[in-house]
Order: sequence, then structure tokens, then C-alpha cells
Amino acid sequence: MLDPKLLEILACPACRGPVTPAPDHQWLFCDHCRLKYRVQDDIPIMLVEEAEKWDPAEADPAAGPANGERA
Ligand SMILES: [Zn+2]
Repeated sequence: MLDPKLLEILACPACRGPVTPAPDHQWLFCDHCRLKYRVQDDIPIMLVEEAEKWDPAEADPAAGPANGERA
């Protein structure tokens, strides 16, 4: 699990916006950039080059952010 304090200071490297952890804390999602960042051994890989595209419209609900509900 990720440290909540760490989550508070983490920001998307592309837009400096907040990131949302997946329920299993294996990914951090940036809703703004539609990118997801891998978390490896509890260490978020906050690199745009390492991020994967994430489309909320296509996302598997189980793989999406815990509170990433979109209209
Ligand atoms: Zn972003």
C-alpha cells in the first residue's frame, strides 16, 4: 500500500495535477492527462515516458481509480 502522505504530495509529472490511486494501489491515474503511472514495490514510477495511456471510457471498472467516476 502507498503511504497516504506520499499520495498527498505526488503529482502528475505532465500536468502537476493530483493523481488517484487504483483500489489495489498498483497504478496511479491522472484524470487530466489520461495517463496511468505504475507503482512498483510501493514506489510510484512518476515518469511520463513510463506512463501508459488510460481512457476512462474504456477502463475496466476494476482497474480504474477508486473515485474516478466520470459523467
Ligand atoms: Zn496529468
